[in-house]
Formats: sequence, structure tokens, C-alpha cells
Amino acid sequence: AEAALRQAQKLEAIGQLTGGVAHDFNNLLTVIMGGLETIGRQLASTSELPQLARLMRAQSMAHHAAQRAATLTARLLAFSRRQPLNPNSIDLDRLLREMQELLTSTLGEQIRLEIVGNAGLWSVFADASELEHAILNLAVNARDAMPNGGRLTIETGNTWLDDDYVASLPEPVPPGQYVLVAISDTGIGMDKVTLDRVFEPFFTTKETGKGTGLGLSQVYGFVRQSNGHVKIYSEPAHGTTVKIYLPRSQAEPDRQEQRNTPSATMLK
Ligand code: ADP
Repeated sequence: AEAALRQAQKLEAIGQLTGGVAHDFNNLLTVIMGGLETIGRQLASTSELPQLARLMRAQSMAHHAAQRAATLTARLLAFSRRQPLNPNSIDLDRLLREMQELLTSTLGEQIRLEIVGNAGLWSVFADASELEHAILNLAVNARDAMPNGGRLTIETGNTWLDDDYVASLPEPVPPGQYVLVAISDTGIGMDKVTLDRVFEPFFTTKETGKGTGLGLSQVYGFVRQSNGHVKIYSEPAHGTTVKIYLPRSQAEPDRQEQRNTPSATMLK
């Protein structure tokens, strides 16, 4: 409980920092974009041709960069939760089918992907694009844990968290009906010391430049904000299973596509 509290505090602090910076940065970007547009209009009245061409190229490059920066701040804002989650009723098996191609290409040729759906699966109440982001993060971790190949299994199911189980959790969720998604790899696994720290923001065992240490803390933050629960089982040299429990939605899943973001660029 002590560790969970420390981790929640750290996450909160990071959220505040990223949210604050992203917010101010975004204001600056608005100024920059406005300036670029004015320059663009002025350029139209420049008469020297070679200079005009150069300036227009520079203007368009800067505009492009500013747009990309705006996308980045949107991600930061989403991460810090200045932007609220947008939960809906999701058909999780369908979401996984829609993600299949993306997952296969993320995992590469050495890793076999197996998705085990559940015919009577309840619908989930969560933010679809955040859930997709979380599953991708977990798939990337699994890939990194299987440098020589292996198998990634994603299995869904209906579950009931009972009072005893809920009471044993460091941060209790209400007892009741949940949809479980279990993501298992046959990779290198984790020792106890690593396992104890995985949800800590910036904790990573990967070499510099490869890991940010934010993947699992993001997953954790998303699941907790969705009133769900996440648990990791791992054994060195055998593999890892991440179990995510998300609350059952009482409504039918929305008919439209579950995915709403192209996500290869959204990783970490
Ligand atoms: P990152 O992947 O950037 O290191 P994460 O928060 O996603 O950040 O993961 C933190 C650490 O947890 C990883 O560096 C790794 O040591 C461990 N880890 C996460 N997922 C797995 C996995 N599937 N198998 C083995 N170790 C894992």
C-alpha cells in the first residue's frame, strides 16, 4: 500500500508537470502558427523570386513542424489527463480484431500472435483509444521481452471480482462484474525486485534510448481511472502475464468502429 501511494503521488506529480508544460507550450504554438500565417500572407507581396521561393520553403517547413508539435502536446495533455477520458461501451474482441494487423507488424516475424476471444463477452466501459494504447504498450513490452521470438497470447473473458479478492488489493475497486483481458508472453520474465517497481514512472531496465519507463505507469493510470484493476504475474525465464480488469458496461457496445486513432506513432 505504501509503494502504491508513492507511485500514485509520483504519477500525479508527473501529470501536473506534463499538463502544465503542454498547456503553456500549446499557447506558444498558437502564437508561432499565427506568426507563420502572417509571414505567409506578406510573402505573397514579395517581388524578388529566388528569395520568395526560399522564404516559402522555410515558412512551410516551420508550419509543418509546428503542426507536429501540436500533435505532441495533445498527447501530453491526454497523458496528464487535462483532457478527460471518453469512456464508451466497447466490444473488446472486436477492438482486438481491428488491432490485429497493427499488433502483428509491431511484434515482427519471430513472434506468434494468438487472440483468444470469448463468444459471450460482456461489453467494457472504457476509453477505446486509451485501451488500444495500453494494449499496444503491453505488446511492445512483450516483444522486447522475446528477442529470440516466442508467443504473445491475448485472452478475454468475463469475471466477477469478489469481496475477498477486492479486499486483498492495495487500491480496492468495487466488487462486481469485470471484463478481463490477459496478455501473456513467453519472454524473459521479471525477478521480484523488478516486478515490485514496474508501475513506477521512469522505472526501466532497458538501455538508454530504448525504454522510457512510462509504458506500464501509463497503463496503470488508465486502468485506475477507468475504475479497473491491473495485476502482473511474472517468472524469470518463463514469461509474463498482465491481467487487466475493466468494469462491465451495462449498455450494448457502440456500433461504429472502435478504433479512432492510427496508433503506430502513439507508442510511448
Ligand atoms: P519501458 O518499457 O520503457 O522500460 P515500462 O513501464 O513499460 O517501461 O516497463 C518497465 C520495465 O518493466 C521494463 O523496463 C522491463 O524491465 C519490465 N517489463 C515490462 N513488461 C515486461 C515483460 N512483458 N516482460 C519482461 N519485463 C517486462
